[in-house]
Amino acid sequence: MLEVIGLSKKYGKTLAADDVNFAVPDGKIGILLGPNGAGKSTVIKSIAGLLRYQGAIRIQGMDARSLEAKKCFAYVPELPYLYDALTVREHIEFIIRAYGACVSEDEIGELFERFELADKQDKLGNELSKGMMQKVSICCALVIKPKVILLDEPMVGLDPMAIKELKGVILDLAGQGCTVLISTHMLEMVKELWDVTFVMDKGHILGTYARESVADEDLEALFFSVTGQAKPSDQDGR
Ligand code: ATP
Repeated sequence: MLEVIGLSKKYGKTLAADDVNFAVPDGKIGILLGPNGAGKSTVIKSIAGLLRYQGAIRIQGMDARSLEAKKCFAYVPELPYLYDALTVREHIEFIIRAYGACVSEDEIGELFERFELADKQDKLGNELSKGMMQKVSICCALVIKPKVILLDEPMVGLDPMAIKELKGVILDLAGQGCTVLISTHMLEMVKELWDVTFVMDKGHILGTYARESVADEDLEALFFSVTGQAKPSDQDGR
């Protein structure tokens, strides 16, 4: 379970997150949806422990800043950061050792197969394409078998096959009881994935929508209505 309670964050005079409250239960997929500049990355970075903030964030009931919470938490940033001089395989081994995770050789092999990295294991970080880097970053997050995972615009830069695979992985994770939070401004990427969507703009959560009560098509209309944005087709007069 992931809980964000009264989260506020200021950059100078800009209030990027203003008393943000939401929760994603065990085994559910939450989507943080908002236009550019809404404050999504600020919330994500706060949860990931990369920013100082006011309020509280709990992972599996523990303070997100605690070591115990960090052990069961994984974060896939919008831009992958790899070590130039480590191979794909060494990245995975480094993460396994850092987290003290218990992972079998078969599980590593399965992960590499799933993301088409099996034949790239000996490539160095700086020899990979952007999409391959993103896949390694996703594998590093998955290999620790997180209880809570955050993905910031995870589909950006991935090819259609990898997007399909990632969607399958996300659904599998939720099926195993993992809590998933995905930040995006691309509604079409998260169709069929979500259980609960939080629409954010100007630092506020403007609406919380449960899958049971809103269809994908209606979510799009709601998004444009609560953020006060005109749908692109409306603007074009088409
Ligand atoms: P996008 O979809 O474009 O990535 P976002 O929803 O992730 O946007 P944030 O990056 O959280 O939005 O930005 C929220 C607000 O905070 C914006 O007004 C932005 O200009 C401001 N902001 C973000 N980072 C900083 C920073 N380091 N210093 C100053 N202002 C910032």
